[in-house]
Amino acid sequence: MSSPGEAFQEQEFTIVSKREKKRITQEGVDKLRAKPGWDPTTFRSERPEDTLQSLNQNKRTQSAYETECDLCGELRKQNDDPTALCEVHLKEVLGF
Ligand SMILES: [Zn+2]
Repeated sequence: MSSPGEAFQEQEFTIVSKREKKRITQEGVDKLRAKPGWDPTTFRSERPEDTLQSLNQNKRTQSAYETECDLCGELRKQNDDPTALCEVHLKEVLGF
């Protein structure tokens, strides 16, 4: 049988540990902020979705430029532009 006193102690322990967690979290945030090069603006712009999207874009762009395509090659020669792409691969790079 548990006494009301025990229950109260347990509850208090929970509150303290929650406060402790909050304090530790705050300490971590403060440490991060104190680091040189910490820039909240850059940090915000590097959302996982953005990073993933730009990764996919890079992959797509890379694969399009690495493709051995006669049309691309012809366009590159004609325009004297090594980055020229045929319609198909241009669309691929643009994500169509
Ligand atoms: Zn092509």
